Amino acid sequence: MMLKIDSSRHLKRFPYWLRQSVRIDKNTAEFRELLRDSNINTVCQSAQCPNIYDCFSRRKCTFLILGNRCTRSCRFCAIETAQKLSLPDKKELFDIRDAVKRLGLLSVIVTSVTRDDLGDGGASHFADCIKILRESNSDLRIEVLVPDFLGKRYAIDKVILAKPDIFSHNIETVPRLYNRVRPQADYKRSLDLIRYASNQVTTKSGLMVGLGETRDEVRVSMEDLRKAGCEIITIGQYLRPDPSCLEVEEFLAPEEFTKFSRWAEELGFKKHSCSPFTRSSYM
Ligand code: SF4
Repeated sequence: MMLKIDSSRHLKRFPYWLRQSVRIDKNTAEFRELLRDSNINTVCQSAQCPNIYDCFSRRKCTFLILGNRCTRSCRFCAIETAQKLSLPDKKELFDIRDAVKRLGLLSVIVTSVTRDDLGDGGASHFADCIKILRESNSDLRIEVLVPDFLGKRYAIDKVILAKPDIFSHNIETVPRLYNRVRPQADYKRSLDLIRYASNQVTTKSGLMVGLGETRDEVRVSMEDLRKAGCEIITIGQYLRPDPSCLEVEEFLAPEEFTKFSRWAEELGFKKHSCSPFTRSSYM
């Protein structure tokens, strides 16, 4: 089943499968307070993720490094854009290490804004982050969700050499929609990055649906990822995080996601999560 959106309406009601009751339990409140005291950025808060209450209640979050403003302006993202940004601050990494300890986390996901203003796109900061977290707890499972580093191999190498458990990079949408959705990104560059990394580390990628792509286009992008060696895939419904972002073109019914899961199995992905609420850090 598919629900088409009347884009002339300013306010769109979510279909029933996307309606959630917000539950701010004791865990969530405590977790939020700990994060606030730590003065660190999470993508959960900066990108206004719809799963935030569930994740916080289960003591899960995705740390955002390299600041909370981005040099790009993807039209699905609520993170503020700026061209003049401060240099990476190592204190941010020690604050994350301390927060991970205090929160008792066994696994972490670290992501960043895109920093095209930095020579290596912030790759050494990612590598330092992995090292600092590992030194503090050698058993910690670390996943990094990286930007494309403008395709610079030496930058990608820096991150891989620091040995994350999972190296993740989202292609986000199908190639036809790149100009509209991620104007400063390049589909082929993202695929090349995944292909290059896949020879050395477990790779993961994700797509949002509901931005106007066809089912066939989703299938082709899934095939492209698999051919590039990607082992883990996530597909979730795009939800407009802010009125300044692109409108949702379509809410896909849960059965559509079941079909994507079937395709992921057919194509040989080792792990997949396809559901309306799936996010790259929520699977
Ligand atoms: S690169 Fe990432 S953080 Fe920057 S605007 Fe795009 S999605 Fe948002």
